[in-house]
Amino acid sequence: MPFVVAIDGPAGTGKGTVTKIIADRLNLIYIDTGAMYRAVALKALKNNIKPEETEKIEEILKDISIKLNRINEKQQILLDGIDVTQEIRTPEVDDVVAKFAAVKQVREKMTPLQRKMKSEGNIIMEGRDIGTVVFPDADVKIYLDATVEERAKRRYKQNLENGIKCTFEEILTSIKERHILETTREIAPLKQAEDAIYVDSTELSIEEVVQKIIAIIEEKI
Ligand code: C5P
Repeated sequence: MPFVVAIDGPAGTGKGTVTKIIADRLNLIYIDTGAMYRAVALKALKNNIKPEETEKIEEILKDISIKLNRINEKQQILLDGIDVTQEIRTPEVDDVVAKFAAVKQVREKMTPLQRKMKSEGNIIMEGRDIGTVVFPDADVKIYLDATVEERAKRRYKQNLENGIKCTFEEILTSIKERHILETTREIAPLKQAEDAIYVDSTELSIEEVVQKIIAIIEEKI
C-alpha cells in the first residue's frame, strides 16, 4: 500500500521548499495542492469570473485540466495544456486564490483529484486540508507554522527573487487577509489535525526543517 505524508500550514512557512527537498531525498511523489487552487483562480480571472459567481465557476470546472509535472527537479503546472507555472504565482492570483479556494464547487472538484493521486505511489502532499480532509488517515501528518512577520518576509524575498514587484507591507497585508479567509471558511478551513505534529519553522533554516520532518517520517514509516 502506498503511504501518504501530509504537510499542512499557512502561506510562507517554507512548506513548498521543504516538501520538494524531502520528496527528492526520500523518493516520494511531490504534490502541491496550492498550485491546483491557483490554477483554478487563474482560469477564473482569465474568464472575468468573480468568486461569488458559482454557476460560472462550475462551468469552467467541468472540463478543466490541471497537470503537475516534475521536470529536472522543477515543477511545471499545466492548465488546460498551457504552461502556467509562473503565471499562477503573481500577486493578482495571490489576492484572489483564497476566495476561490473557499468555494464549495471548487473543493468538491479538487479533493477527489487529490485523493486519486495516491494510486501513483508514495506521496508527500502539501496544502491546507490534507491531514484533515483529503487524507484524514495519512500515515504522517505535519503542521508547519511560523510567525506572520517571518512568513511575510520569506514570501517577499521569494517574490523579489522571481522578479515580482511588490512591497513588504503589501505582502504582509495579503498574508494576513489570506490567513483570516483560510482559517474561518466553512469548508475545509486551515487547522492543525489532532494527530498532526506541530513544527515551528520561525527560527529554523530550511535544512533544519527538512531534517526534522525526515526524522518524523522515518520514525513513523
Ligand atoms: O500554498 P499556496 O499559497 O500556493 O496555496 C494557494 C491558496 O490555495 C491558499 O491561499 C489557499 O487558500 C488555497 N489552498 C487550499 N487548500 C489547499 C491548498 C491551498 O485552500 N489544500
